[in-house]
Formats: sequence, C-alpha cells, structure tokens
Amino acid sequence: MQPRDLSTHSVYRAGRGIEEVAREIGLNPDEMIKLSSNENPLGPSPAATEAIREHAGHSHTYPKAAHTDLTAAIAREWDVTPEQVWLANGGDGALDYLARAFLEPGDRVLVPDPGFAYYPMSARYHHGTVGTYQLQKADDFEQTATNVLDSYDGERIVYVTSPHNPTGRELPREELLALADRTDDSTLVLIDEAYAEFSETESAVGLLGEREDIAVLRTFSKVYGLAGVRLGYLLAPPAWADAYERVTTPFAASELACRAGLAALEDETHLENTVELVRWAREYMHDRLQAPAWPSGGNFVLTEVGDAEAVAHASRQRGVIVRDCTSFGLPGCVRISCGTREETKRAVDVLNEVV
Ligand SMILES: *Cc1c(COP(=O)(O)O)cnc(C)c1O
Repeated sequence: MQPRDLSTHSVYRAGRGIEEVAREIGLNPDEMIKLSSNENPLGPSPAATEAIREHAGHSHTYPKAAHTDLTAAIAREWDVTPEQVWLANGGDGALDYLARAFLEPGDRVLVPDPGFAYYPMSARYHHGTVGTYQLQKADDFEQTATNVLDSYDGERIVYVTSPHNPTGRELPREELLALADRTDDSTLVLIDEAYAEFSETESAVGLLGEREDIAVLRTFSKVYGLAGVRLGYLLAPPAWADAYERVTTPFAASELACRAGLAALEDETHLENTVELVRWAREYMHDRLQAPAWPSGGNFVLTEVGDAEAVAHASRQRGVIVRDCTSFGLPGCVRISCGTREETKRAVDVLNEVV
C-alpha cells in the first residue's frame, strides 16, 4: 500500500539546531550563536514563561477557556470580532486553515520566489497547484503590485509577505490596495505579517473592515519569542470569517500555548525591548557589514556574499550560524537574524572576516 502521489511535495528543511551543529564541528554549544532562524534573541516574554509554569498543572484539561480568552484578547488588540480570529498551531497552521477553507481541488495559488517555503507546501497538501511570481534581485527585490500582477492569472490565493522573508523588503500600503483592486473578485490576497512588529509600516488589519479580499497572518514566533510554543493566527474579513469553525481542528492551539500567548500580549516591555534591539541590530549590520545588504523591515538582514554555502560554512566553523539562502534560490546570499548586541557584533566581525 502507498500514500497518495506525493511526488510534487517538498520537505520543509528547518535550520539545524545549535547542539547538532556544535557536535558536528566539535565546538561547545554555549560558544555558538544561532542567527539562522529569525528567533527572538531575548528569548520568550518572561511573563509567558511564568504563565506556562503556572498552568502546566492544568494540562489534563482541554483548552476551552484559554482558547476563548486568547481569541477575545487578540480581537480586542486589533479591534475585530472574535469570529475574525483564526487561532492556529503557529502561523503555518493558520495557512493550512486558509487553504482548507479556500481551495477546491486543482485551484491555483500564486507564491513569491524567493519566498517562504510553507505557502506552496500548504497549498499542495490541500490539492492546490502552485505558480510563482518573481522578486528580482536586479530590482533589489522590490515588491510592487505590477510585479505580482505580471504573473497573475486568476489564482484563488495570492501570497504576499511584508516584510518579506528572506529579503526584508516591504509591500507599501498603496501597492497592496492596487494589487487587491486589480485581482479578480474571487482572488484572496493573503498578507503575511509575521515580521510586521519590526517595521514602521502600518498593519493591513485596518483594511479588513472595508474589504473581503484580504486576510492577514500574524504569529507569536518572532517578536513574542514563542516559536517553540507554536502559536499564530489569521485575521479574516467579517464576511467569510465563519468558515473557521468549519475547518478548524477541535482545539487549534494548546492550553499552554494559549496561556503563553495571553501573557505575552500583555507584556509590552518585552515587545518594546525586542523591537528596539532589532532596529539597533539591523542598523548596525547595515553600517558595518562589508558586503552589500538590502533594506529590511524584519528581524534579519539579507546580504550578498558571493558563495553563500562557503560563507555559511566558514562562519559556522567560527561559531556563528547564519542562513545560507541557496534553498531560497539565492546561492549568493546569506540571511543574518538580529541577535543581542554582543551576538550581532560578533556575527558582523566573523562575516567580514570570511567574506
Ligand atoms: C516565521 C514565519 C511565519 C510563521 O511561522 P510560525 O512559527 O509557524 O508561526 C510565517 N511566515 C513567514 C514568512 C515566516 O518567516
């Protein structure tokens, strides 16, 4: 017996963990710094850590109240109704719910290239087919409506990432509006704001009241430092928000994830400290890296280093793990996540040494 034909499906290759890399090259894991997965260098919100501890003893119950409370808190935060909040096991889980709710077998979606690997994966799991639009290095990966529309042919979902991973470039508000206006009525523009807290650009959430053709993805993995907890959500326009109840698993986020998320939302200090640090680190990298780097609205910087695989390898030997962007189709670039001040300085020194 065999599963269905999965030959067009690809496997998500996560960056390797620090222990694994350290063991391979014989370094002490404590001496290594990992700036390859856009994680929060300050760790989770301490309030979230405390909430997880406090509620660990309730893990035997289903997260009914916690789920409802977190949904309500997110709805308040964004001034939307609880029905518009599609809570999920990470932003990735929310992408799956969207595909479940929107795609008929054979429906086409449009994803950025380079871009986040999970968009096409999720669409294919849900029997969709995938086309791409190019973000051109020659145009400094600029994101515009025209750029997407050049490849658009009536797809059901168009995925946009702003700030974009791995380039850091943003899609300006007027370009998003132009894109949504110029696509068919049956096309949804999903705007992925996984990194939006680090940018100065206003969130697209404010558009949900006026339009039915935009949805927004957010996550607790980046600014809140809860990547390991797996918590994210989609914000949907009121018109089709009730689809969530028809596609969600009975409890989309765990008790501990919900408790952590509730605490993290309240912890403004941790959020402000994180954003301040990230902005400092981005600027430091732009000032000091002796390699060209693109402007970034995220908690990372993409830089052109020649042979990315060789540079990532040499930098790893010196204890600094950065993301080789070959798998994104950018074999000349590495992506460096913002670290603490100390980590960022060391990473820049090491990169300058090996480039
Ligand atoms: C990190 C990230 C997400 C969300 O990841 P989760 O950990 O599943 O919440 C979504 N989109 C992009 C572009 C990301 O980089």
